[in-house]
Amino acid sequence: MPLKQLPGKAPELTAFEAGYLVSLNGGWRSIRPVIDRDRCVRCGQCYLYCPDGTISPEFSVDYGFCKGCGICAKVCLRGAITMEKETAHA
Ligand code: SF4
Ligand code: SF4
Repeated sequence: MPLKQLPGKAPELTAFEAGYLVSLNGGWRSIRPVIDRDRCVRCGQCYLYCPDGTISPEFSVDYGFCKGCGICAKVCLRGAITMEKETAHA
């Protein structure tokens, strides 16, 4: 079932709101989420479920804090998020 798009204001997060982590922790990530903008329908699932709050309401990933857990890719029903090896982005 397709998810509804976010209304004007994003709902509350399941984790903490993006932008509050203070210690960079993305350095030990081995894979990273890459969002395909053409497939993304802006449903907000990834934003809501990211445990580190590293996906912004505009659905971009802050790689300084993303730990590469892959939860965002798992919850994206559109298959718009691919986990890619860090070595491909070195
Ligand atoms: S990347 Fe997937 S989960 Fe995130 S907003 Fe787009 S469609 Fe939704
Ligand atoms: S891989 Fe994990 S930490 Fe990184 S954006 Fe996705 S859910 Fe958040």
